[in-house]
Amino acid sequence: MAVLWLDEISAGDLEKVGGKGASLGELTGAGLPVPPGFVVTAGTYRSFIEEAEIDEELFEVVDVDVDDSSALATAADRAQELILETPFPEDLREEILDSYHQVGNGEAFVAVRSSATAEDLPDASFAGQQETFLNVTEEALLDRVRECWASLFTQRAIYYRQEQGFDHSAVNIAVVVQQMVDAEKSGVMFTSHPSTGDPTMIIEAAWGLGEAVVSGAVSPDNYVVPREEDDIDVTVAEKKVMHEKDEETGETVEREVPEDRRNARVLSDDEIGKLVELGERVEDHYDTPQDVEWAIVGDDVYMLQSRPITTIDEGGSGGEAPDASGAVDAAKGVTDGSGSVQAASGGDGGSSGGSSGDVIVDGLGSSPGTVSGAAQIVTKLDDLDKVKEGDIIVTEMTMPDMVPAMKRASGIITDEGGMTSHAAIVSRELGVPAIVGTTNATTVLEDGQVVTLDGDKGAVLEGQEVEPDEETEPVEEVRPQSPVKPMTATEVKVNVSIPEAAERAAATGADGVGLLRTEHMILSLNQTPAKFIAENGEDAYIQELVQGIRGVADEFYPRPVRVRTLDAPTDEFRQLEGGEDEPKEHNPMLGYRGIRRSLDRPGVFAHELEAFRRLYEMGYDNVEIMFPLVNDAEDIYQAKRLMEEAGIDPEKRKWGAMIETPASALSVEGMAEAGIDFASFGTNDLTQYTLAVDRNNEHVADRFDELHPSILKLIGNVIETCREHDVDTSICGQAGSKPEMVQFLVDEGVSSISANIDAVRDVQHEVKRTEQKLLLDSVR
Ligand code: PEP
Ligand code: MG
Repeated sequence: MAVLWLDEISAGDLEKVGGKGASLGELTGAGLPVPPGFVVTAGTYRSFIEEAEIDEELFEVVDVDVDDSSALATAADRAQELILETPFPEDLREEILDSYHQVGNGEAFVAVRSSATAEDLPDASFAGQQETFLNVTEEALLDRVRECWASLFTQRAIYYRQEQGFDHSAVNIAVVVQQMVDAEKSGVMFTSHPSTGDPTMIIEAAWGLGEAVVSGAVSPDNYVVPREEDDIDVTVAEKKVMHEKDEETGETVEREVPEDRRNARVLSDDEIGKLVELGERVEDHYDTPQDVEWAIVGDDVYMLQSRPITTIDEGGSGGEAPDASGAVDAAKGVTDGSGSVQAASGGDGGSSGGSSGDVIVDGLGSSPGTVSGAAQIVTKLDDLDKVKEGDIIVTEMTMPDMVPAMKRASGIITDEGGMTSHAAIVSRELGVPAIVGTTNATTVLEDGQVVTLDGDKGAVLEGQEVEPDEETEPVEEVRPQSPVKPMTATEVKVNVSIPEAAERAAATGADGVGLLRTEHMILSLNQTPAKFIAENGEDAYIQELVQGIRGVADEFYPRPVRVRTLDAPTDEFRQLEGGEDEPKEHNPMLGYRGIRRSLDRPGVFAHELEAFRRLYEMGYDNVEIMFPLVNDAEDIYQAKRLMEEAGIDPEKRKWGAMIETPASALSVEGMAEAGIDFASFGTNDLTQYTLAVDRNNEHVADRFDELHPSILKLIGNVIETCREHDVDTSICGQAGSKPEMVQFLVDEGVSSISANIDAVRDVQHEVKRTEQKLLLDSVR
């Protein structure tokens, strides 16, 4: 048997039908209303390649050095070709088509989805790599099945398996073929409260197909149904878009919701009753609360997927653990939409309260959390070896070479720098508490002295005030505690400056990366680009960039990743080998950096662009290009020409510019006419250039005010102009993590906000609150 019907499958058949197939089979067997369908089993895929005798070659060709991108590309092409060009044996063709005819009596539109069998591949970016096709008809069915099989061998999939240490031949793939449900309404349902486990069902619903709700494209209605009472709490949202099947092409399209249904309640009491009954049945079946995707057509309710809710706080441990309180607060975003979430960041667990130690040093709290540890004064790179796990690094200013030691440290204190300095940015990304700009920490503190660092208040106290953190897990700290993130029309993205932080950044559930700084990838080579190329060749330099960007693009795929071309000032390059050739500048912040350096050295810039071209060729269509420190349309035209010369089609790819100088803010109309897709506010630089306040100078740090009225005026005008020209706007400077700035930007109509990793959750809720207030104000 090449196929198994869903009603023949149960949860134990994972090896045969993959995770998706097993779950749908189990639900069908339990008598729940799952759309009918079958699974082309993993065994069928395996016999297909074995009987055609392509298996050996297949696994041989993909056994390549995945860091060699041209070898990887050749391997993926050949592997896919082997599968796609092997004809179906006649009996298999027949069996699949016969089965198809039995689904929906012959003319059904079906969904064709890959269902990988390697259950222990938890990473979402891996799971998302295999193909899914909607609205497939008989004509295309067999090709689509084969394409699902071939999707095991895309460059990304091969790379990923190799990196994770999975044997290519041990991963199989089944294909689910299931009748499409043309949902009139759809959404998700939690059969119990997602953090407390209380018997309260929470339903989110919108018009059309479910993708709009699951992807966050629409803010859904919210229904809170306490199972013991009839008292349903309903919050009706404005639903601007819906996904539905285009009758002509059969494709899924996004359409505007007709005016009269936008603010109308989606679910009737009767439908809620049916969903609740279904929820009770599925919860009883699994004997544990479930997170269910559902759809309604006419009077029929369907279940599309069901997973256990994993976020319920079993211990009911009250408020003592930061995770527990975070979970409850975050869940409020789901239950009542109020989104009143307190920061649950840092590892202090509230234990810093009652501190009686004297403040011996103070500065700017730049990465939250409270820790105690032994100070280690680092004045030269050789000192880094003495930093042991749990120590606190005390230094003038951190540098890219220090990142490995910064990861070992429990805290970081610097003499110099402001909130946008290297130490501040990197420590936040690593989740390590930090204080910057103390002016005197390296002279006041002593090697080995035990101190307590409060990264919220910016104070260093004498002695040990908190216990060493047992198991702080930086990735888990930022993972949303509620299974559904707040649905916002304004996208909330995340900033990444060091590739090591990519996993933690992706775990936030952000809508993509609003800024990936490439500087660290280059500076950590310890040689200037010119020196590195002279010693290792152009290709090695391009490969470094490809690898660094790819790591992040993979973590987020298919969410967009906005990658900025190089923007390191000459004083940072000077510290590297080859740095002696850098121009000597009185004021590097105003000097040879960003796009002005790139346009002046088109030969070196071409290597960066070549890295982008290769990534596009490898299928990373989620990568976007952003140019730093532009001043006007002329800069944009020149950069665009170089992009074209490098073989990147500006019409096909998303690209844009940072707004970091008053000149760029005032010239944005010309930049829009030059073709940018987006403009992103780099408020760290925009503030320093508008207010003439050096962002790294602790002596004027109190004047570094990103909310200064002049800056807000520039930003407001840019948003307005960009809206007129259909150009997206975003913020990727530090200020995007501040609630006041978030409110201002959402009020002005910004398209997205990119925040620090530890701030994503709060920003999501702040955006939601501001959007809801705007809606309420408009109807009052
Ligand atoms: C900015 O200037 O706001 C920005 C995000 O860029 P960087 O901090 O890297 O200069
Ligand atoms: Mg900048």
